[in-house]
Amino acid sequence: MVDAARRGFLRGRSRPRAELRPPWALVESAFSERCTRCNDCLKACPEGIIVSGDGGYPTIDFGRGECTFCAECVTACQPQALLRRQGEAPWAYKARINDACLPARGVECRVCGDFCAVRAIVFTPRAGGCALPQIDAQLCTGCGACQAPCPTAAIRIS
Ligand code: SF4
Ligand code: SF4
Ligand code: SF4
Repeated sequence: MVDAARRGFLRGRSRPRAELRPPWALVESAFSERCTRCNDCLKACPEGIIVSGDGGYPTIDFGRGECTFCAECVTACQPQALLRRQGEAPWAYKARINDACLPARGVECRVCGDFCAVRAIVFTPRAGGCALPQIDAQLCTGCGACQAPCPTAAIRIS
């Protein structure tokens, strides 16, 4: 006999969070139960970054732009699969830089830093090499503004 908590655990594991959800989304198991796939959040987003993902559930495409955290999507979500709670951060996503980063390959580049409004990308000088970008996780909001401008797709938000 599988108890309720165990069933919830298994349900959560059977649908791992592989896609980025809109800001202030409930935890994945609750989100997928409440979301009716109505697409109202897609229509409400002024940045056009919410798209229909796997199974018709909304996901974020940072290739289209950044999240300004305007919360228009939350306001549009009648089933409250997106629910803004007082004092709660919109999400835990952060920018991550991979091996395709140009300075790691000896080519000067600071494009991502130019797009980060909160200056969460710090370029650390290196002796004999180009300064390497590092993400300050305390400052990074996961807004995604740095992802699309990167010439080598070296930044992902997760
Ligand atoms: S908070 Fe605003 S910009 Fe961000 S996904 Fe929602 S509607 Fe779009
Ligand atoms: S508005 Fe809410 S219920 Fe509709 S697709 Fe977006 S998250 Fe799901
Ligand atoms: S995701 Fe936004 S806040 Fe984080 S490093 Fe990129 S531009 Fe800066």
